[in-house]
Amino acid sequence: MKAPTPPLQLVLATTNLHKVREFRTMLKTLSRVDLLSLADFPSYVPPEETGATFEENAVLKATHAAKALNQWVIADDSGLVVPALKGAPGVFSARFAGKDATDFDNRKKLLDLMQHLLDDDRQAFYECVIAFSSPSGLRKCVRGTCEGTLLQQERGSSGFGYDSLFIKHGYSKTFAEIEESTKNRISHRRKALDKVLLSLESLMNSL
Ligand code: IMP
Repeated sequence: MKAPTPPLQLVLATTNLHKVREFRTMLKTLSRVDLLSLADFPSYVPPEETGATFEENAVLKATHAAKALNQWVIADDSGLVVPALKGAPGVFSARFAGKDATDFDNRKKLLDLMQHLLDDDRQAFYECVIAFSSPSGLRKCVRGTCEGTLLQQERGSSGFGYDSLFIKHGYSKTFAEIEESTKNRISHRRKALDKVLLSLESLMNSL
């Protein structure tokens, strides 16, 4: 009898527990993937996110971790883009209110900056870029977006980051009020992940 194929160890290059949780749920359909995160490699020091774009940061995080850990890696660089604020917070979404800012601090800064903005000026989108790398280099880099509007006060308690302010077009609840399974079906992260799934599947079939 043929021995069963071992699972593919894939490292998600993040320590953000919310991202890990979303990816774990979304990747459940790939039963042969064993998803690890940087929590499993406590001595690894990730590079500073010096890129000017989500793409640059995602590629930096994925290729650096893949080489250093000698593993297959996916890295997500994501954030909220507000055209009326010239694209802010953008790549600085996680540290919008400062280096050690909490999600609450970041949302407060955003609300303060936007307090005089109405209607069209409250349009925003989430962007997620996923880079997929082997130890010898980048394999794929894909992007997903999710367009919506930003409220003037928070609503809901699930999700993370700017979710309690963000309502996707066509919905009436914020990302912090909807079911997690709904967010995982319609989010920027889901859209990007869908574009990388084929590469993951063909990698698994080649092992
Ligand atoms: P990164 O870890 O450098 O990619 O920064 C991601 C940051 O973007 C998070 O800390 C949040 O502030 C924001 N962000 C990205 N995706 C989401 C999301 O799905 N919901 C809410 N905020 C998000």
